[in-house]
Amino acid sequence: MSAASTTGSDQPAVNDLVSSLSAIVGREHVVVDPQITASFGTDWTRAWSALPLAVVRPATTEQVAEVLRICSHHRIPVVPQGGNTGLVGGGVPHSDHTCVVVSTLRLNQFGALDAATRTVEVGAGVTLTQLHTFARSVGLRYAVDLAARDSATVGGMISTNAGGLRVVGLGDTRQQVMGVEAVLPDGTVIRRMDPLAKDNGGYNLSQLMTGAEGTLGIVTAARLRLIEQPTSPPFVTLVGLPDVESAVALLTQERARPGLTGAELFRAEGMRVVRQVCGLSQPLRSEHPVYLLLETAELPNLPESADAVVDERMWEYRDRQAEAVAATGIPFKLDVCLPVSVIPDFLDELAGLPDCQGREVHVYAHLGDGNLHINLVNIDQAIGERLDQQVLTAVARYGGSIAAEHGVGVHKTAWLHLSRSAEEIAAMRAIKTTLDPLGIMNPGVLLPVEEGQR
Ligand SMILES: Cc1cc2nc3c(=O)[nH]c(=O)nc-3n(C[C@H](O)[C@H](O)[C@H](O)COP(=O)(O)OP(=O)(O)OC[C@H]3O[C@@H](n4cnc5c(N)ncnc54)[C@H](O)[C@@H]3O)c2cc1C
Repeated sequence: MSAASTTGSDQPAVNDLVSSLSAIVGREHVVVDPQITASFGTDWTRAWSALPLAVVRPATTEQVAEVLRICSHHRIPVVPQGGNTGLVGGGVPHSDHTCVVVSTLRLNQFGALDAATRTVEVGAGVTLTQLHTFARSVGLRYAVDLAARDSATVGGMISTNAGGLRVVGLGDTRQQVMGVEAVLPDGTVIRRMDPLAKDNGGYNLSQLMTGAEGTLGIVTAARLRLIEQPTSPPFVTLVGLPDVESAVALLTQERARPGLTGAELFRAEGMRVVRQVCGLSQPLRSEHPVYLLLETAELPNLPESADAVVDERMWEYRDRQAEAVAATGIPFKLDVCLPVSVIPDFLDELAGLPDCQGREVHVYAHLGDGNLHINLVNIDQAIGERLDQQVLTAVARYGGSIAAEHGVGVHKTAWLHLSRSAEEIAAMRAIKTTLDPLGIMNPGVLLPVEEGQR
């Protein structure tokens, strides 16, 4: 059965697929009702939306393997989905009734802590909040944190190599992954989950699956590192500043001291919208063009005259930027990384783009990582395409990366060549073709679909 043949006229083939999948996971875990599947087919931003043929909810690795065998047999594209908080359209279908969404949310088991390596085996469907709660319960901490913590899953964070709020001090998801269990498109299970501090045995397939955006297989579980809790709570300082140059200078100063675990920037329009949408009060004496939030082991070195407050509740002003902007309309988002020193010039150039003139451009940033999130709301497709081209080309010219922490998804496949050489893209495609010869895993994500492929 080809993907095209499953629409409308080929209802018997769809019924056959659904009954095969139901025999594996149970009829109640194969959802075909469009009233329900619609939410699995629409991403968090609402920019991408299409109905899946079915949503399948396996509960074990063996069930995932059987589901992928069936989809391979029928040559049906598969979209893996965790919490559906991704921001580049990678976790949802892109045309109606052509693919199966495999939801990992029932893969939510925890193994025991391995005290010697301070690692734990967790299911791909465990949410970040559940992982933080587990880590706290054993007196430890998971290093990665991000605002979508209540929904984002371990499988999704591994597949996007999620970054978040503390990369500057504690690293990204890749650095927390000791091992991964995953199912390849033909149903083969690869598993490297032993709690071994040293284990060199050739290619690191766990790290290959990390950041693969569901294009090579489905991550079903992972062994993740936990770290010590800080000996005393960090200082969270929000400071108002006249410009981005001052924020970069303050960051540079604080980076030279030990214990910097967060350096987050947002601007006046971000403060206004987060206060308005989330009902937050004015946190400082006055309003400022730029705000920098620092999380540090020692109090930051600020001048007497600085307008600043030390209060961990200041995180909320940064944490809720994405939510607040999305409440004002459908956000167009670009997530890019730049050398920190060029960010002021880059932002001047951004402001000068004709499509940014007269529009509110929300920029918030994991400044410590040089990672900017650029947001405009309710723009039409033509403007979005022009901004993709102009902004991402400028990012490449400034020596940056077009995909910092959200992934390439479907949004940036056409621009991957700005951050990866033709040779690197060819090597990636060779890996993809070897592990997924039928091209059923998340087609169109990360690598552009080639002529002659589905
Ligand atoms: C308010 C908000 C704030 C955010 N802040 C940050 C941030 O600070 N840093 C950051 O990095 N991201 C951030 N994100 C983006 C998002 O939360 C991350 O990309 C997260 O890792 C996605 O996890 P998920 O479970 O929702 O994945 P999904 O959205 O379900 O999927 C994301 C991608 O991973 C694939 N995938 C999912 N699960 C699996 C699996 N088990 N096996 C194989 N492939 C899989 C999907 O096919 C898709 O390509 C934010 C999002 C929101 C809405």
